[in-house]
Amino acid sequence: MSKKPNRIKPIVIIGAILVTVSYFILTVERQQGRPRNRITAESGYREIMGTFVRIMAVAANKQTAQTCVDKGLEQLELVDNLMSVHNSKSEISEVNRDAYRHTVKVSEPVFEVLQRSVEFSKLTDGAFDITVGPLVDLWYQAGKENQKPTESEIASAKAKVGYEKLVLDAENKTLRFTVDGIRLDLGGIAKGYGVDLAARAMQQAGVLGGMIDVGGDIRCFGAPPRGKQKWSVGLQEPKTDEKGLVSHQLVLVLEVVDRAVTTSGDYRRFALIDGKRYSHIINPSTSSGAEGLSSVTIIAGNATDADALATAVSVMGPEKGLALIETIPDTEAILISSGLEFKQTLTSGAEKYIKK
Ligand code: AMP
Ligand code: MG
Repeated sequence: MSKKPNRIKPIVIIGAILVTVSYFILTVERQQGRPRNRITAESGYREIMGTFVRIMAVAANKQTAQTCVDKGLEQLELVDNLMSVHNSKSEISEVNRDAYRHTVKVSEPVFEVLQRSVEFSKLTDGAFDITVGPLVDLWYQAGKENQKPTESEIASAKAKVGYEKLVLDAENKTLRFTVDGIRLDLGGIAKGYGVDLAARAMQQAGVLGGMIDVGGDIRCFGAPPRGKQKWSVGLQEPKTDEKGLVSHQLVLVLEVVDRAVTTSGDYRRFALIDGKRYSHIINPSTSSGAEGLSSVTIIAGNATDADALATAVSVMGPEKGLALIETIPDTEAILISSGLEFKQTLTSGAEKYIKK
Protein backbone atom coordinates (compact mmCIF):
# COMPACT_ATOMS: atom_id res chain seq x y z
CA MET A 1 0.00 0.00 0.00
CA SER A 2 2.66 2.38 0.88
CA LYS A 3 4.94 1.55 -2.02
CA LYS A 4 5.99 4.47 -4.11
CA PRO A 5 5.39 4.04 -7.85
CA ASN A 6 9.09 4.37 -8.79
CA ARG A 7 9.93 1.29 -6.74
CA ILE A 8 7.45 -0.88 -8.52
CA LYS A 9 9.45 -2.05 -11.52
CA PRO A 10 11.86 -4.46 -9.82
CA ILE A 11 8.98 -5.85 -7.82
CA VAL A 12 7.01 -6.65 -10.98
CA ILE A 13 9.89 -8.59 -12.43
CA ILE A 14 10.59 -10.45 -9.23
CA GLY A 15 6.92 -11.06 -8.54
CA ALA A 16 6.46 -12.45 -12.04
CA ILE A 17 9.41 -14.78 -11.62
CA LEU A 18 8.35 -15.88 -8.16
CA VAL A 19 4.82 -16.77 -9.10
CA THR A 20 5.82 -18.35 -12.41
CA VAL A 21 8.36 -20.50 -10.62
CA SER A 22 5.85 -21.33 -7.88
CA TYR A 23 3.31 -22.33 -10.50
CA PHE A 24 5.59 -24.67 -12.40
CA ILE A 25 7.03 -26.11 -9.23
CA LEU A 26 3.65 -27.55 -8.29
CA THR A 27 3.97 -31.31 -8.23
CA VAL A 28 1.72 -33.40 -10.40
CA GLU A 29 0.26 -35.94 -8.05
CA ARG A 30 -2.66 -38.27 -7.96
CA GLN A 31 -6.01 -36.60 -7.35
CA GLN A 32 -7.45 -37.74 -4.05
CA GLY A 33 -11.07 -36.82 -3.52
CA ARG A 34 -10.68 -33.51 -5.34
CA PRO A 35 -13.46 -32.25 -7.60
CA ARG A 36 -12.97 -33.75 -11.07
CA ASN A 37 -13.83 -30.75 -13.19
CA ARG A 38 -11.34 -28.11 -12.34
CA ILE A 39 -11.05 -25.16 -14.69
CA THR A 40 -8.57 -22.45 -13.78
CA ALA A 41 -8.88 -18.76 -14.60
CA GLU A 42 -6.33 -16.16 -13.63
CA SER A 43 -6.02 -12.40 -13.58
CA GLY A 44 -2.46 -11.95 -14.82
CA TYR A 45 -0.61 -9.14 -13.03
CA ARG A 46 -2.64 -6.12 -11.95
CA GLU A 47 -1.43 -3.06 -10.13
CA ILE A 48 -3.55 -2.57 -7.03
CA MET A 49 -2.65 -1.35 -3.52
CA GLY A 50 0.65 0.02 -4.80
CA THR A 51 1.90 -3.43 -5.65
CA PHE A 52 1.38 -6.33 -8.03
CA VAL A 53 -1.56 -8.58 -7.58
CA ARG A 54 -2.44 -11.92 -9.06
CA ILE A 55 -5.53 -14.05 -8.50
CA MET A 56 -6.11 -17.61 -9.62
CA ALA A 57 -9.53 -19.25 -9.34
CA VAL A 58 -10.39 -22.91 -9.76
CA ALA A 59 -14.05 -23.62 -10.53
CA ALA A 60 -16.29 -26.18 -12.19
CA ASN A 61 -16.49 -24.14 -15.39
CA LYS A 62 -14.70 -21.31 -17.15
CA GLN A 63 -17.36 -18.69 -16.55
CA THR A 64 -17.55 -19.26 -12.79
CA ALA A 65 -13.75 -19.25 -12.54
CA GLN A 66 -13.59 -15.91 -14.36
CA THR A 67 -16.38 -14.42 -12.23
CA CYS A 68 -14.48 -15.46 -9.09
CA VAL A 69 -11.31 -13.76 -10.31
CA ASP A 70 -13.31 -10.57 -11.02
CA LYS A 71 -15.02 -10.65 -7.60
CA GLY A 72 -11.64 -11.03 -5.90
CA LEU A 73 -10.13 -8.11 -7.80
CA GLU A 74 -13.17 -5.98 -6.97
CA GLN A 75 -12.57 -6.48 -3.24
CA LEU A 76 -8.90 -5.54 -3.54
CA GLU A 77 -9.87 -2.33 -5.39
CA LEU A 78 -12.37 -1.59 -2.66
CA VAL A 79 -9.81 -1.98 0.12
CA ASP A 80 -7.32 0.14 -1.82
CA ASN A 81 -9.89 2.91 -2.26
CA LEU A 82 -10.69 2.88 1.45
CA MET A 83 -7.26 2.41 2.98
CA SER A 84 -4.53 3.87 0.78
CA VAL A 85 -2.66 6.79 2.34
CA HIS A 86 -1.46 7.70 -1.16
CA ASN A 87 -5.00 8.50 -2.26
CA SER A 88 -6.16 11.79 -0.73
CA LYS A 89 -9.79 10.73 -1.29
CA SER A 90 -9.51 7.47 0.65
CA GLU A 91 -11.35 7.06 3.91
CA ILE A 92 -8.08 6.68 5.81
CA SER A 93 -6.80 9.99 4.36
CA GLU A 94 -10.00 11.64 5.57
CA VAL A 95 -9.47 10.12 9.00
CA ASN A 96 -5.89 11.39 9.07
CA ARG A 97 -7.08 14.90 8.16
CA ASP A 98 -10.04 15.16 10.53
CA ALA A 99 -9.92 12.73 13.45
CA TYR A 100 -8.20 15.13 15.84
CA ARG A 101 -10.65 17.94 15.16
CA HIS A 102 -13.72 15.74 15.46
CA THR A 103 -14.87 12.14 15.79
CA VAL A 104 -14.97 10.44 12.36
CA LYS A 105 -17.42 7.70 11.40
CA VAL A 106 -15.79 4.99 9.27
CA SER A 107 -16.99 2.07 7.14
CA GLU A 108 -17.20 -1.52 8.46
CA PRO A 109 -13.98 -2.68 6.73
CA VAL A 110 -11.94 0.30 7.95
CA PHE A 111 -13.26 -0.11 11.48
CA GLU A 112 -12.47 -3.82 11.42
CA VAL A 113 -8.87 -3.14 10.35
CA LEU A 114 -8.47 -0.44 13.02
CA GLN A 115 -9.82 -2.75 15.68
CA ARG A 116 -7.65 -5.70 14.60
CA SER A 117 -4.62 -3.38 14.45
CA VAL A 118 -5.08 -2.27 18.04
CA GLU A 119 -5.47 -5.92 19.10
CA PHE A 120 -2.16 -6.70 17.38
CA SER A 121 -0.52 -3.71 19.10
CA LYS A 122 -1.57 -5.12 22.46
CA LEU A 123 -0.54 -8.67 21.55
CA THR A 124 2.91 -7.55 20.37
CA ASP A 125 3.65 -5.06 23.14
CA GLY A 126 3.42 -2.17 20.69
CA ALA A 127 5.74 -3.66 18.03
CA PHE A 128 2.86 -3.52 15.54
CA ASP A 129 1.48 0.00 15.52
CA ILE A 130 -0.48 1.66 12.69
CA THR A 131 0.26 5.13 14.14
CA VAL A 132 3.87 4.92 12.89
CA GLY A 133 2.96 7.14 9.88
CA PRO A 134 5.00 10.21 10.97
CA LEU A 135 8.11 8.04 11.49
CA VAL A 136 7.57 6.17 8.20
CA ASP A 137 7.42 9.52 6.38
CA LEU A 138 10.45 10.90 8.21
CA TRP A 139 12.67 7.92 7.32
CA TYR A 140 11.38 7.80 3.76
CA GLN A 141 12.33 11.45 3.32
CA ALA A 142 15.69 10.83 5.04
CA GLY A 143 16.43 8.06 2.52
CA LYS A 144 15.61 10.36 -0.39
CA GLU A 145 17.94 13.06 0.98
CA ASN A 146 20.62 10.61 2.16
CA GLN A 147 20.58 12.38 5.52
CA LYS A 148 19.61 10.90 8.87
CA PRO A 149 16.76 12.70 10.63
CA THR A 150 17.82 14.95 13.53
CA GLU A 151 17.06 14.15 17.18
CA SER A 152 14.45 16.88 17.29
CA GLU A 153 12.76 15.66 14.08
CA ILE A 154 12.60 12.16 15.56
CA ALA A 155 11.25 13.48 18.89
CA SER A 156 8.57 15.52 17.15
CA ALA A 157 7.44 12.53 15.00
CA LYS A 158 7.52 10.22 18.02
CA ALA A 159 5.15 12.49 19.96
CA LYS A 160 2.50 11.66 17.34
CA VAL A 161 3.01 7.88 17.51
CA GLY A 162 1.28 5.43 19.85
CA TYR A 163 -1.83 3.29 19.42
CA GLU A 164 -3.05 4.34 22.88
CA LYS A 165 -3.68 7.78 21.35
CA LEU A 166 -6.60 6.33 19.32
CA VAL A 167 -10.14 6.25 20.68
CA LEU A 168 -12.29 3.65 18.93
CA ASP A 169 -16.03 3.37 19.50
CA ALA A 170 -17.20 -0.07 18.37
CA GLU A 171 -20.91 0.71 18.75
CA ASN A 172 -20.89 3.79 16.54
CA LYS A 173 -17.90 2.73 14.38
CA THR A 174 -16.07 5.97 15.02
CA LEU A 175 -12.50 7.01 15.64
CA ARG A 176 -10.89 10.00 17.31
CA PHE A 177 -7.25 11.02 17.80
CA THR A 178 -6.23 12.41 21.17
CA VAL A 179 -3.12 14.12 19.72
CA ASP A 180 -2.82 16.44 16.73
CA GLY A 181 -0.74 15.24 13.77
CA ILE A 182 -1.36 11.49 14.08
CA ARG A 183 -1.06 9.72 10.73
CA LEU A 184 -2.33 6.19 10.42
CA ASP A 185 -0.49 3.91 8.00
CA LEU A 186 -2.25 0.62 7.27
CA GLY A 187 0.58 -0.66 5.04
CA GLY A 188 1.40 -3.46 7.50
CA ILE A 189 -2.07 -5.05 7.53
CA ALA A 190 -4.32 -3.80 4.70
CA LYS A 191 -2.91 -6.09 2.01
CA GLY A 192 -3.64 -9.13 4.15
CA TYR A 193 -7.10 -7.83 4.96
CA GLY A 194 -7.76 -7.29 1.24
CA VAL A 195 -6.66 -10.85 0.51
CA ASP A 196 -9.12 -12.19 3.10
CA LEU A 197 -12.02 -10.14 1.71
CA ALA A 198 -11.16 -11.31 -1.79
CA ALA A 199 -11.08 -14.95 -0.65
CA ARG A 200 -14.50 -14.59 0.99
CA ALA A 201 -16.00 -12.99 -2.13
CA MET A 202 -14.59 -15.78 -4.31
CA GLN A 203 -16.01 -18.43 -1.99
CA GLN A 204 -19.43 -16.77 -2.13
CA ALA A 205 -19.21 -16.79 -5.93
CA GLY A 206 -18.76 -20.57 -6.00
CA VAL A 207 -15.01 -21.03 -6.28
CA LEU A 208 -13.62 -24.53 -5.64
CA GLY A 209 -10.18 -23.18 -4.83
CA GLY A 210 -8.07 -20.10 -5.26
CA MET A 211 -4.79 -18.30 -4.79
CA ILE A 212 -4.53 -14.58 -4.14
CA ASP A 213 -1.16 -12.85 -4.14
CA VAL A 214 -0.94 -9.18 -3.21
CA GLY A 215 2.76 -8.31 -3.40
CA GLY A 216 3.83 -11.38 -1.43
CA ASP A 217 0.81 -11.56 0.88
CA ILE A 218 -0.59 -14.86 -0.33
CA ARG A 219 -3.59 -16.95 0.58
CA CYS A 220 -4.30 -20.35 -0.94
CA PHE A 221 -7.57 -22.10 -0.29
CA GLY A 222 -9.64 -25.06 -1.43
CA ALA A 223 -8.83 -27.24 -4.41
CA PRO A 224 -5.57 -26.45 -6.25
CA PRO A 225 -5.47 -26.51 -10.07
CA ARG A 226 -6.16 -29.85 -11.73
CA GLY A 227 -3.41 -32.41 -11.30
CA LYS A 228 -2.07 -30.86 -8.09
CA GLN A 229 -2.76 -31.71 -4.49
CA LYS A 230 -1.40 -28.67 -2.72
CA TRP A 231 -0.54 -25.08 -3.46
CA SER A 232 3.13 -24.21 -3.67
CA VAL A 233 4.64 -20.94 -2.53
CA GLY A 234 8.31 -20.17 -3.10
CA LEU A 235 10.27 -18.04 -0.61
CA GLN A 236 12.80 -15.72 -2.17
CA GLU A 237 16.32 -15.29 -0.99
CA PRO A 238 16.18 -11.93 0.89
CA LYS A 239 18.89 -10.29 -1.15
CA THR A 240 19.20 -7.40 -3.58
CA ASP A 241 21.96 -6.80 -6.11
CA GLU A 242 23.78 -3.50 -6.60
CA LYS A 243 20.92 -2.25 -8.82
CA GLY A 244 18.37 -2.97 -6.08
CA LEU A 245 16.91 -5.99 -7.88
CA VAL A 246 15.73 -8.78 -5.61
CA SER A 247 17.40 -12.20 -5.94
CA HIS A 248 15.69 -14.77 -8.16
CA GLN A 249 16.84 -17.63 -5.96
CA LEU A 250 14.28 -19.43 -3.85
CA VAL A 251 15.43 -20.43 -0.38
CA LEU A 252 12.67 -22.96 -0.04
CA VAL A 253 9.27 -23.97 -1.32
CA LEU A 254 6.23 -24.36 0.91
CA GLU A 255 3.33 -26.66 0.18
CA VAL A 256 0.09 -25.57 1.76
CA VAL A 257 -3.65 -26.18 1.83
CA ASP A 258 -5.99 -23.49 3.18
CA ARG A 259 -3.22 -21.27 4.52
CA ALA A 260 -2.06 -17.68 4.22
CA VAL A 261 1.67 -17.12 3.69
CA THR A 262 3.01 -13.61 4.15
CA THR A 263 6.58 -12.37 4.01
CA SER A 264 7.85 -9.07 5.41
CA GLY A 265 11.40 -8.03 4.86
CA ASP A 266 13.91 -5.25 4.73
CA TYR A 267 15.34 -6.45 1.42
CA ARG A 268 12.73 -5.00 -0.91
CA ARG A 269 12.14 -1.59 0.57
CA PHE A 270 14.52 0.39 2.70
CA ALA A 271 16.12 3.80 3.06
CA LEU A 272 19.82 3.94 2.23
CA ILE A 273 21.61 6.59 4.26
CA ASP A 274 25.42 6.83 4.17
CA GLY A 275 25.55 3.26 2.86
CA LYS A 276 23.50 1.84 5.77
CA ARG A 277 20.11 0.25 5.14
CA TYR A 278 17.15 1.32 7.26
CA SER A 279 14.12 -0.94 6.97
CA HIS A 280 10.77 0.57 5.94
CA ILE A 281 9.39 -1.26 8.97
CA ILE A 282 9.71 1.02 11.99
CA ASN A 283 10.51 -0.19 15.46
CA PRO A 284 8.28 2.11 17.55
CA SER A 285 10.50 1.67 20.61
CA THR A 286 13.66 2.93 18.84
CA SER A 287 11.85 5.20 16.32
CA SER A 288 14.17 3.78 13.66
CA GLY A 289 14.11 0.94 11.11
CA ALA A 290 13.63 -2.60 12.45
CA GLU A 291 16.89 -4.55 12.61
CA GLY A 292 18.04 -8.16 12.77
CA LEU A 293 15.77 -10.02 10.35
CA SER A 294 15.99 -9.90 6.58
CA SER A 295 12.81 -11.81 6.05
CA VAL A 296 9.93 -13.02 8.18
CA THR A 297 7.39 -15.44 6.75
CA ILE A 298 4.24 -16.22 8.69
CA ILE A 299 1.98 -19.14 7.83
CA ALA A 300 -1.48 -18.68 9.34
CA GLY A 301 -5.15 -19.42 8.80
CA ASN A 302 -5.92 -15.99 7.40
CA ALA A 303 -3.95 -13.27 5.65
CA THR A 304 -4.85 -10.40 8.00
CA ASP A 305 -3.18 -12.18 10.92
CA ALA A 306 -0.26 -13.35 8.79
CA ASP A 307 0.35 -9.82 7.46
CA ALA A 308 0.23 -8.06 10.85
CA LEU A 309 2.32 -10.76 12.53
CA ALA A 310 5.00 -10.71 9.82
CA THR A 311 5.43 -6.96 10.31
CA ALA A 312 5.37 -7.32 14.11
CA VAL A 313 7.94 -10.14 14.21
CA SER A 314 10.24 -8.07 11.95
CA VAL A 315 10.20 -5.48 14.74
CA MET A 316 10.36 -7.90 17.69
CA GLY A 317 13.39 -9.76 16.38
CA PRO A 318 14.11 -13.50 16.36
CA GLU A 319 13.84 -14.38 20.04
CA LYS A 320 10.76 -12.49 21.13
CA GLY A 321 9.16 -12.92 17.71
CA LEU A 322 9.55 -16.69 17.64
CA ALA A 323 8.36 -16.99 21.25
CA LEU A 324 5.21 -15.03 20.39
CA ILE A 325 4.38 -17.13 17.32
CA GLU A 326 4.86 -20.36 19.34
CA THR A 327 1.98 -19.20 21.58
CA ILE A 328 -0.46 -18.67 18.67
CA PRO A 329 -2.33 -21.83 17.57
CA ASP A 330 -1.97 -23.00 13.95
CA THR A 331 0.50 -20.25 13.17
CA GLU A 332 4.12 -20.77 12.15
CA ALA A 333 7.11 -18.61 11.30
CA ILE A 334 10.22 -18.94 9.15
CA LEU A 335 12.80 -16.28 9.92
CA ILE A 336 15.88 -15.42 7.92
CA SER A 337 18.44 -13.31 9.76
CA SER A 338 20.22 -10.25 8.37
CA GLY A 339 23.89 -10.63 7.64
CA LEU A 340 25.85 -12.66 5.18
CA GLU A 341 24.89 -16.18 6.10
CA PHE A 342 21.06 -15.75 6.11
CA LYS A 343 20.49 -18.05 9.07
CA GLN A 344 17.04 -19.68 9.10
CA THR A 345 15.03 -20.19 12.29
CA LEU A 346 11.69 -21.96 12.35
CA THR A 347 8.86 -22.40 14.83
CA SER A 348 8.28 -25.97 15.96
CA GLY A 349 5.47 -26.70 13.46
CA ALA A 350 6.87 -24.95 10.37
CA GLU A 351 8.82 -27.92 9.01
CA LYS A 352 5.71 -29.74 7.84
CA TYR A 353 5.03 -27.05 5.21
CA ILE A 354 8.49 -27.24 3.63
CA LYS A 355 8.71 -29.22 0.42
CA LYS A 356 11.42 -31.84 0.73
P1 AMP B 1 4.73 -5.21 5.62
O1 AMP B 1 5.30 -5.19 4.25
O2 AMP B 1 3.41 -5.88 5.73
O3 AMP B 1 5.69 -5.67 6.67
O4 AMP B 1 4.37 -3.70 5.98
C1 AMP B 1 5.32 -2.71 6.03
C2 AMP B 1 4.60 -1.38 6.03
O5 AMP B 1 3.84 -1.26 7.25
C3 AMP B 1 5.51 -0.19 6.01
O6 AMP B 1 5.84 0.19 4.69
C4 AMP B 1 4.67 0.85 6.71
O7 AMP B 1 3.71 1.34 5.82
C5 AMP B 1 3.95 0.05 7.76
N1 AMP B 1 4.69 -0.09 9.05
C6 AMP B 1 6.00 0.21 9.29
N2 AMP B 1 6.33 -0.09 10.56
C7 AMP B 1 5.20 -0.60 11.14
C8 AMP B 1 4.91 -1.07 12.45
N3 AMP B 1 5.82 -1.11 13.42
N4 AMP B 1 3.64 -1.50 12.69
C9 AMP B 1 2.70 -1.48 11.71
N5 AMP B 1 2.92 -1.03 10.47
C10 AMP B 1 4.15 -0.60 10.17
MG1 MG C 1 2.53 -6.91 7.24
